[in-house]
Amino acid sequence: MNELTKKVFDKIDELSDKYLNVLIDACNIESKTEDKEGVDKVGAYFAAIAENMGYVIKKREFEKAGNVYSFTCNPTGKKKPISLSGHMDTVHKKGIFGYPTTKIDGDYVYGPGVNDCKGNIAVELLVMEALKSCGYDERPVKLILQSDEEVNSYLSDQKSLEFMVEEAKGSAAFLNAENIGAERKLTIGRKGITAHKITITGKKFHAGWCTKGASAIKEAAYKIIEFEKDNDNDAITFNCGIINSGTATNIVPDLCELFVEYRFKNMEQKKIADEKFKKIVETSYVEGTHAEAERISNRLPLEPDEKNKNLVNTINDICKQVGIEPFGMAETPGGADSAYPSLAGIPTVDSIGIEGSGCHTLNECARISSMAEMAKVVAAVIINFPE
Ligand SMILES: [Zn+2]
Repeated sequence: MNELTKKVFDKIDELSDKYLNVLIDACNIESKTEDKEGVDKVGAYFAAIAENMGYVIKKREFEKAGNVYSFTCNPTGKKKPISLSGHMDTVHKKGIFGYPTTKIDGDYVYGPGVNDCKGNIAVELLVMEALKSCGYDERPVKLILQSDEEVNSYLSDQKSLEFMVEEAKGSAAFLNAENIGAERKLTIGRKGITAHKITITGKKFHAGWCTKGASAIKEAAYKIIEFEKDNDNDAITFNCGIINSGTATNIVPDLCELFVEYRFKNMEQKKIADEKFKKIVETSYVEGTHAEAERISNRLPLEPDEKNKNLVNTINDICKQVGIEPFGMAETPGGADSAYPSLAGIPTVDSIGIEGSGCHTLNECARISSMAEMAKVVAAVIINFPE
């Protein structure tokens, strides 16, 4: 291990209590995605830390989504930048964790966003301060904060993702900090997800003469079976998650709303899934019914391609140099923003963050001692990255 890496590791240990408090403060500000005021408060909290540290701050404001930021340390560094990222919104309704929202029990912290994803932002800010205070200035280190990740960025009409890709342009690597599991696997593949609302119309009729009507529910039933019949967890899956319809048992229903999402591993599968979806929507299985689809959200896949696998190999080589156990690689069916820098050609890895579990539940927790452990990984990568 070189002198600087060692110095930065010691600094991380020294600063880790400070950034545990940053994690707690940030998670005590509730920020469900749709609560712009809450998400903006989290952004302002992190921006105040960045300002205090003298990082270059860029902000983009949105009407419905929370504002997004980038913080850059060493903007004039000669080597290629490395981008870090995380999101400030959570899925949790205000108040469901009680107050204070964030609690410590032994080596674990519980609360909304402790691992998904504000705890990771605290780790990244810890890395940046440790590097800066040890005099590291070889490359720009950029932290890009997202505001509507949990809703596939529809609130900003994906402008938050455009900001992310713009800011990350030219980076040697993009390290997205979703939480990592105890089995220590870095994520190199995530599925893309497309969601639609389908409105089916039919013909209302008295149930006694039901063959004269056209049942929108019956049409929905055919469509659901068609959508889901070839589901393959390792490839394309369709899920009809919500269905709204009907007024009485003695009436043939003339309206049914169906909410459907489908997931795919790569752009090739997306094309197949898009076509299947369109064909089923356009086909009337029950004569006299008609369906229209409206897209609600769309997120592209993080493809486990060579550049992303090579990035994990580079991270593991650096880990071995500095005495950290190397990581495994994983693919998951859950989507994330990391798809976008990867599709823009930047080597990207996901889940390089705090160790945690229970995200999207009241058991969301993170292991406190993993903050310093993972900060050391990220810092070592920034200092020792070959490009
Ligand atoms: Zn989440």
